[in-house]
Amino acid sequence: MDTYDLVVIGSGPAGEKGAAQATYFGKRVALVERASHVGGAGINTGTVPSKTLRETALYFSGLKQRGLYGVDYSLKTELTVRNFMYREPELVRGLRAVVERNLERHGIGLVRGTAVFEDLHTEPDPRGAPCARTHPPHATTVPE
Ligand SMILES: Cc1cc2nc3c(=O)[nH]c(=O)nc-3n(C[C@H](O)[C@H](O)[C@H](O)COP(=O)(O)OP(=O)(O)OC[C@H]3O[C@@H](n4cnc5c(N)ncnc54)[C@H](O)[C@@H]3O)c2cc1C
Repeated sequence: MDTYDLVVIGSGPAGEKGAAQATYFGKRVALVERASHVGGAGINTGTVPSKTLRETALYFSGLKQRGLYGVDYSLKTELTVRNFMYREPELVRGLRAVVERNLERHGIGLVRGTAVFEDLHTEPDPRGAPCARTHPPHATTVPE
């Protein structure tokens, strides 16, 4: 069983950056993610999807082009939901890959599963004593 100096729960912006930062200090780090994709709300459900859709809406409306250059811009008449949604999943996929590469580059062990603490009183122990385990038990990769 692998042991780590630090087990980070969640691969959102906070978890990813925190885990990477710890490796700069020579720590052996594992990161546990329960969702099917890394990136947390920032990449998968929040910031990136919402801002990409906003940019797409602004682009198709021609608002920015008109404002900046005073050009005549007409809305594409046969615009479909597929056109509208095209860029968002592409971007999200690309950014998930960036997070995965970042974890790999820093040698951070990515563990798939839901992290739970043993109990209310068991805190992470840097010497590798009981600290946290993933659930279900077969996914456990942190010390017992
Ligand atoms: C619709 C929307 C739009 C937003 N727009 C912006 C914006 O424009 N600008 C901005 O700065 N912020 C924005 N935010 C906020 C931003 O997304 C969050 O502040 C940011 O994602 C928080 O990062 P985090 O790493 O703390 O948590 P999260 O991104 O929530 O990541 C937490 C991760 O931990 C995992 N996790 C949780 N518990 C466990 C467990 N027990 N075991 C294993 N994994 C676990 C989750 O699956 C998730 O992947 C937006 C949020 C939403 C919802």
